[in-house]
Amino acid sequence: MSTDKLKEYYLQLGIDEKVYNFCSEVEANLKDRFEEIDKIAEQNQIKVIKAMQEARFAEEHLGGTTGYGYNDAGREAVEEIYANVFGTEDALVRQQITCGTHALAIALSANLRPGDEILSPVGKVYDTLEGVIGVRPSKGSLAEFGITYKQVDLLPNGDFDFENIKKSINENTKLIEIQRSKGYDVRPTLSVEKIGEVIKFIKDIKPDVICMVDNCYGEFVELIEPSQVGADMVVGSLIKNPGGGLAPIGGYICGTKECIENCAYRLTSPGLGKEVGASLGVTRDIAQGLFLAPTVTAAALKGAIFAANIYEKLGFKTVPDSKESRHDIIQAVEFGKPELIQAFCEGIQAAAPVDSFVTPVPWDMPGYDSQVIMAAGAFVSGASIELSADAPMKEPYAVYFQGGLTYPHAKFGIMMSLQKIVEKGLIVW
Ligand SMILES: *Cc1c(COP(=O)(O)O)cnc(C)c1O
Repeated sequence: MSTDKLKEYYLQLGIDEKVYNFCSEVEANLKDRFEEIDKIAEQNQIKVIKAMQEARFAEEHLGGTTGYGYNDAGREAVEEIYANVFGTEDALVRQQITCGTHALAIALSANLRPGDEILSPVGKVYDTLEGVIGVRPSKGSLAEFGITYKQVDLLPNGDFDFENIKKSINENTKLIEIQRSKGYDVRPTLSVEKIGEVIKFIKDIKPDVICMVDNCYGEFVELIEPSQVGADMVVGSLIKNPGGGLAPIGGYICGTKECIENCAYRLTSPGLGKEVGASLGVTRDIAQGLFLAPTVTAAALKGAIFAANIYEKLGFKTVPDSKESRHDIIQAVEFGKPELIQAFCEGIQAAAPVDSFVTPVPWDMPGYDSQVIMAAGAFVSGASIELSADAPMKEPYAVYFQGGLTYPHAKFGIMMSLQKIVEKGLIVW
């Protein structure tokens, strides 16, 4: 009876019977994968609760401060909880950090001085970081302050190029930047274990180098974080995984006492550091978001796996593929044709709780060399832990999709994407 009602809802929302049946069949085969994800979520959930209890997190912490924000006990408790969850000495978790790029920029500029060199041993850094570092000339970049950058690409098979990494380390090498997620690149996402391998290799050559991990999209996907395999700093955005969909803004940096102290002096001011920064009533959402983050991340992962299985079965290339183990929440599907990515994005948008009536269209986004189409109907503007999709309108016409605060929503989004593709006659069944 209850499945009939569910089916009736889907049909009312525009899913046709064939799409519904196809998706149900695919989903039925994913039980084992989902169970595995639930186990990881459970362990991470308990880890977060344990950290909250150990910090004696209390109702009085949920309010906020104004002005300078001195002695903000809630802010301090949240930072203690983050440090505990990520296994680090200290943490900086602030709504004054405007986004992930800002958090990364703080971590870099706080810990580097003129003459120092950054090394990325995993290929190209995230697009926005190219501006921060000055790979792409930009005002205020680290390059303008005399900081240099080197990069060693991964080998064609995705392995580290240890030989060239070794050759690239010199007396100026001060900081290693390791991006965990593939982001919108073609390389594989790195597992925490692999990140640990490259850190160990580098620290054996130069023990005092700072290893920083751009942890965006990777938090809570595995049982441990890169900070537990030797990273001195892990950095990310609160409108992705660790904000659990509730944090309305913010970024985090977890790491050694010294690195975090430097970051705090850079974020606020030398001499002030962590002592200032009013929480303005946002602490509740940041803390409750962290509490929800393990299961929200699990929901997004299930959605990604569902999508990979649906589209692979229909003959499209998916990255990661339907069976591969997962190290971040991003799913790419290569559609090969602009009409297909347009229809896919229309479906994601049509399934949203907010702005479902909007039709996404490709536009000229600043900083991109082709038009980009985006679908998002989020409670928090731009939050990519909420179900969202984007695609550059160029070969190989791949759509990148991520998020979903709940699995049923992610599933509905994917079903709707297929529905739009079917309605436009873009695939033959
Ligand atoms: C999202 C992301 C960032 C930071 O992006 P913001 O949009 O500034 O939050 C950095 N690195 C990676 C890999 C990301 O996915």
